[in-house]
Amino acid sequence: MTTKAAELLAIDGGAPVRAALLPYGRQHIDDADIQAVVDVLKSDWLTTGPKVGEFEAAFAEYTGAAHAVVFSSGTAALHAAAAVAGLGPGDELITTPLTFVASANCARYVGAEPVFADIDDGTLNIDPARVRERLTARTRAIVAVDFAGQPADLDELRELAGGRGVTLIEDACHALGATYKKRRVGTVADMTVFSTHPVKHITTGEGGFVTTGSEALATALRRFRGHGITSDARARHEAGSWFYEMTSLGFNYRVTDLQCALGLSQLRHADTWLERRIAIAARYTKAFAGMPEIALQQVRADRQSGWHLYVIRIRASRLAEGHNRDTVFRALRAENIGVNVHYIPVTWHPYYRERGHGPGECPVADAAYAELLSLPMFPTMTDADVDDVIAAVRKVLVAYLPH
Ligand SMILES: *Cc1c(COP(=O)(O)O)cnc(C)c1O
Repeated sequence: MTTKAAELLAIDGGAPVRAALLPYGRQHIDDADIQAVVDVLKSDWLTTGPKVGEFEAAFAEYTGAAHAVVFSSGTAALHAAAAVAGLGPGDELITTPLTFVASANCARYVGAEPVFADIDDGTLNIDPARVRERLTARTRAIVAVDFAGQPADLDELRELAGGRGVTLIEDACHALGATYKKRRVGTVADMTVFSTHPVKHITTGEGGFVTTGSEALATALRRFRGHGITSDARARHEAGSWFYEMTSLGFNYRVTDLQCALGLSQLRHADTWLERRIAIAARYTKAFAGMPEIALQQVRADRQSGWHLYVIRIRASRLAEGHNRDTVFRALRAENIGVNVHYIPVTWHPYYRERGHGPGECPVADAAYAELLSLPMFPTMTDADVDDVIAAVRKVLVAYLPH
């Protein structure tokens, strides 16, 4: 890094790089989105109506999947995927420690246990070699998370799962629109899970999806979403029938027509928003590539990341004594840059410590966690916004260099 005189940081009383906070993620809602929701409010069906099937069909088309089943959240979608994969008490589900807790919790929802396989230090995705070590006769599923949007090593994981009756579930909550060896995410794993929470690629407020190529799994997922009942209210209405049967224990994980109309309207932007995320990531990478105080997530040439997050790793050993990710985080917040940390390893949470997990179990993820910082990343960020983030990161690191 070029050594210029350090500016006074906002945390030390200087002027912040930005006057108001730039958030790390933010949805974009336009007039067409609002009108789509209003139209549903004026219609006959607020839930279990026509927008649900329309949104599912559009999502299937976008991802290229044969079937797309919408849920009330990404977490509900993960629960459903674990359930229809047949997991239950005594079974194990292998996942990464560097993820949102829901990727592991879905095992617990069905009485199974999550087993954590450490990550690859470069890509930050689950390491297939560590997965291999964790496979047992009880393993029934692998939940591979596409960290920050970069697809996991799906072929290697598929090979480990194949022939053992292990279901490959891809948690692609970061990866809508991403590709793996030219294939769209949503078509590669046995089941692929997405979220439409406001910080994700498109939003329905709360919502999620499972895509699958299997008609049997799609039917089971729909049934799980609706109480384990064999028909939905609208189908009965249209058939003029009152009869229904509950054949398995399901939930009410439905999503409303208001949300589906919003999602349909949002989906129009998915490609242009993804292109913008890719451009923002490229601008960050160009700025940070030559800075020894920062390490970047390794990107594999055979896949296109969805760039839900842009993470950097702060190399504390390059900074003055006492400085590290935590002090850089606080200084950037003071500059009004909405940085975040993804993630506290799942193994560290009190709930999982009580179940025998904890620091030291996955040392690569533990070390990454100490360094990781997520920078603002959302499609309506301007180049000037991106440049403010870059300027603030530079300003803080220059101030924290050893003297
Ligand atoms: C957002 C997210 C989820 C959960 O999705 P919700 O829609 O918030 O329930 C699960 N896994 C990962 C990796 C996520 O980022």
